[in-house]
Amino acid sequence: MCSITTILGLIGKNVNYSYSPFIHNTAAAMLRLPFHYTVFNIADREQIPAALDGARALGIGGFNVTIPYKQAVTTCMDRLSAEAQAVGAVNTIINKNGRLLGCNTDIAGVSNPLKPYRDTIHQNPAGIFGNGGAALAAIEALRRDYQPSAIRLFVRTPEKAEALAEQVRARSPQTSIEIFSTGSYEAMRDCRLLINATPIGTKGVQMSENPTILPPEQSIVHHRQIVFDMVYNPLRTPFLALAEKAGAVVIPGIEMLLAQAAESFALWTGTAMPVDRIREKLFLRLTEQP
Ligand code: NAP
Repeated sequence: MCSITTILGLIGKNVNYSYSPFIHNTAAAMLRLPFHYTVFNIADREQIPAALDGARALGIGGFNVTIPYKQAVTTCMDRLSAEAQAVGAVNTIINKNGRLLGCNTDIAGVSNPLKPYRDTIHQNPAGIFGNGGAALAAIEALRRDYQPSAIRLFVRTPEKAEALAEQVRARSPQTSIEIFSTGSYEAMRDCRLLINATPIGTKGVQMSENPTILPPEQSIVHHRQIVFDMVYNPLRTPFLALAEKAGAVVIPGIEMLLAQAAESFALWTGTAMPVDRIREKLFLRLTEQP
């Protein structure tokens, strides 16, 4: 008798580049679990309700969701987890007999790699570059699990950041959120944690404005800091290279990718992902590629 394979997949736009199929299919094969993960490129957000109804009917086991649909899918869910409600975005869907549960594992993706540094982060200022969806997941992770003395957002559009800060304050009045411009170097220097939640540093993406997170000639990063870059391509971003040179602890974006994937995998399969072995395989694959 052959076993039936459950289909999982990534919903996004132009996501053939994604490492998620490799991560999930390698984990399922290692554990001999009957799951197969693929990509579903959806051209237009108007097609999302139909796509998800199809998934209900076909019994697709679940999805990851990425840019630009993390917010758009929320209205199609039958239920949202507390995390998805908190950030208004879904990156993981579980199909339970045709009922879709929307979850957010990006929060764990930020929180889990920071666990060894809890004491450094607690009650000290933490800085985040950016004010998009990933920044919001980082705010939620810090607020819930680390309680820094303040969360500083370093942004190019303060009005947008202020709206985001208001949203967080409404839910959590005790959380201190401060908005700074991208040139506020003093405020960056006394953060014990700096997180890049912008695409700056991504391979092949040229930024006309703020081409690097920090100008290298300003010695902002130092050895008492933890520097976390969400960008995972390249593995060693210019921001991480700068931080390494300054003696800071560095956390590459691949750690967030693995941590959020592990959380999603456990939700779909009920089994823990062997993260250390997957990391090894992923590094091998990425360093072999040109
Ligand atoms: P998003 O919602 O589009 O937000 C991007 C943010 O970056 C916005 O705040 C934007 O500012 C800011 N930004 C873009 N270019 C900038 C520049 N040149 N100077 C200053 N700020 C700039 O995207 P997202 O979903 O938050 O994702 C952000 C990054 O995190 C992406 O690179 C994504 O790949 C990465 N990410 C990685 C993981 C992982 O697993 N490692 C998970 C999620 C996201 P404005 O608001 O002013 O436009």
